[in-house]
Amino acid sequence: MQQAVAQEKLEQVELFIAGESRASSRGETFQVTNPATRQTLANVASGTEEDVRAGIDAAYEAFPNWSQTTAPERAEILFKVGQLIQENVEQLARTITLEEGKALAEARAEVKQGYNTVMYFAGEGRRMLSNVTPSETKDKLTMTIRRPLGVTAVITPWNFPMMIPLWNISPALVCGNTVVFKPASFTPITASKFVQLFVKAGLPRGVLNLITGPGERVGRTLVESDKIRVCAFTGESETGKGIAQTSAKCLRRQVLELGGKNPLIVASDADLAVAVGGALWSAFSNAGQKCTAASRIIVEEPILDRFAKTFAEAATKLVVGNGLDPSTEMGPLISEAALTKTKEYAEIGKREGAKLLAGGSDYKNGKGPDLQRGNFHQPTVFSGTNSMQISQDEIFGPITTIISARNIQDAISIANDTRYGLASAIYTKDIRNAMKAAYDIDAGVTFLNQGPVGIEVGASFGGVKDSGFGRELGEVGIEDYTEKKTLYLDYSYRVHPFFYPWKK
Ligand code: NAD
Repeated sequence: MQQAVAQEKLEQVELFIAGESRASSRGETFQVTNPATRQTLANVASGTEEDVRAGIDAAYEAFPNWSQTTAPERAEILFKVGQLIQENVEQLARTITLEEGKALAEARAEVKQGYNTVMYFAGEGRRMLSNVTPSETKDKLTMTIRRPLGVTAVITPWNFPMMIPLWNISPALVCGNTVVFKPASFTPITASKFVQLFVKAGLPRGVLNLITGPGERVGRTLVESDKIRVCAFTGESETGKGIAQTSAKCLRRQVLELGGKNPLIVASDADLAVAVGGALWSAFSNAGQKCTAASRIIVEEPILDRFAKTFAEAATKLVVGNGLDPSTEMGPLISEAALTKTKEYAEIGKREGAKLLAGGSDYKNGKGPDLQRGNFHQPTVFSGTNSMQISQDEIFGPITTIISARNIQDAISIANDTRYGLASAIYTKDIRNAMKAAYDIDAGVTFLNQGPVGIEVGASFGGVKDSGFGRELGEVGIEDYTEKKTLYLDYSYRVHPFFYPWKK
């Protein structure tokens, strides 16, 4: 894409509170910029404390009616949202690429994952299983029912601006909760577009409210409100820890999906081409801006040199560019600040003695005006050790480090030598290695013969250690949004003693 870039239509994004679009109460706005071109895409309402309180009040008032509708009725609305997503795939995917930067094919996959999520949780509206346990007493039934918790705060990052919010919003709604949604400030256009699909599908007013604006103001005010009964947060570990402290004060339910520094192990018996392809996609899709990105590639010594050479060559060949260009394989970083951070880590890697195998800088020197204009960085491969800063810090950019391991046991020890524990992977043809990794890597997810990317909605997802706690998706995905209540039903119509005397 070496030609001049056409200016997109400037969008206006407003808050959505109690079924109405509104400006910020102080009339403040902020701008959203295309990371590939640095052109302005939208003026967005910047919510105030007052706006947040209005959103919470709207959700609070909507809760009694919404929670009284039947779960299958609520599910009908989600099924309609699914249909509407299908009808708007291209528009939604294009919006994601414009404001987030990822290649259009990846954006389409994200919309598809959003659709899968909505449909999966719509299905929960007719399941939402709870249990009946055999009673210890004759003519008695002991069972649990599920109740919604109340107003849910959904606070999300920008790297999957549609899929991640839907991981939280869909189960929250189908379980009967109401929602105040605060999207990341880099990606509010996508958020606003899919919120409108819920409205079009017939969601009653106040059930889903959208408040855009800075995390320090909108996010913080939301979290500090004791009317919020569930806080679903996805973002950086440090932000999450602060939120957890505030949430603890009002003993609310919380799910925290935080950062990662994910290991991908390549055993010496692995199919090299498959492992290289998987590692490439995991390290560099979405320009490495994924909580599950393979940012440490741990390779058994016998194949280390061959793997490193093939992988670095493949990384160098990746087509970097504007995500709207169909030939693009890797888009830009989200912001100038993220580009600066990535460049700094490339320098840190060089300074701490890692060997640069591919990339290592931005495109300021040569390679056409488009790559110079946007927040583009070369896919960068280092060979280093696990103790280096580039192997320990979450860079959240297109930098990965290849680390040598003596054997699988050593590889697993290296994999676990990190503060994080989100995703992980191993490529091997030996089931013993695969199962050892499955049991011994400290992480919420281990991919066997697949890079750590491509989370499916039917299975639970989440981390350990500094990657957070709680699980989303799959059958446990509704646990965060319901409280189980136990019922004892006595159908003997007799007076029982309040204790159970031992039978003599
Ligand atoms: P971030 O923590 O900076 O922001 C996340 C959200 O929190 C944003 O909406 C932000 O505005 C808001 N926020 C910021 N400060 C807040 C505060 N004090 N109170 C309440 N809300 C506040 O993270 P980010 O840069 O948007 O996203 C990148 C991070 O997210 C990475 O660390 C990545 O690993 C992580 N992530 C994790 C997962 C997962 O599922 N585990 C998925 C995607 C991203």
